[in-house]
Amino acid sequence: MSIYEAVRSKVNLRMAAERYGMDIGKNSMVRCPFHDDRTPSMKLNNKYYYCFGCGAKGDVISLVAEHLSLSAADAAQRIADDYGIETMKISVNSKLNFYKEKQKRRDRCARVLCDYNRILRKWMTDYAPKTADEKLHPRFAEACRMLEVTEYMAELLDTGTMEEQNEVVDDLFCNNCIEHLEKYIKENKE
Ligand SMILES: [Zn+2]
Repeated sequence: MSIYEAVRSKVNLRMAAERYGMDIGKNSMVRCPFHDDRTPSMKLNNKYYYCFGCGAKGDVISLVAEHLSLSAADAAQRIADDYGIETMKISVNSKLNFYKEKQKRRDRCARVLCDYNRILRKWMTDYAPKTADEKLHPRFAEACRMLEVTEYMAELLDTGTMEEQNEVVDDLFCNNCIEHLEKYIKENKE
C-alpha cells in the first residue's frame, strides 16, 4: 500500500480538515481554499470534498496540500506523520523481506543442484560398466537418468529469465522435493 492509499483509506477528511485548522460550519461547509470564497461553499464529506463555487474536488491529501500550501507528496507525508501511519516503512520492509526470502530459496536450490550434480557426475564415472554385458549399477543408471535434467535446471537457475528461475525453484519446493534431495545428498556424500 502506498502512502497515498494508506492516508486516503485511514484518514477521515472532515476530521483532518478540522485538525489542520479549517473552520467547519453548518452542514460540514467550509470556505474553499481553491478560490476567493467569502461564504462557505465547499462541502466536506468523510472521503472527498466538493466546492459549489469553483468546482474544486478531491481527497484529503489535495485538500490539506492546498490548505497548508504543500505539495501533494509533502501533504501525504505530513498527514501520515501526524496520524502515526507507517505503512510506507512497513511495505518497504515487507517487500525487502519478500525478496530476501526469494533469494534464500533460490540459493538453496542452486546449492542442492550443485551438490547433487557433483555426486551424479562422480557416479557416472565411478560406476560406469566395465564391459558391455555388465549389469548397470543403480547409481550409474540414476546418473544417466538425472544428470542432464538437473544440470539443465542448474543452468536455468544461473542464467535463465526470472520466470525460468522461479519455475525451477517452484519445482524443487513442490512436495518437499528439496528436503528429500538434501537428505539424499547427505546420505550419499562421500
Ligand atoms: Zn472553490
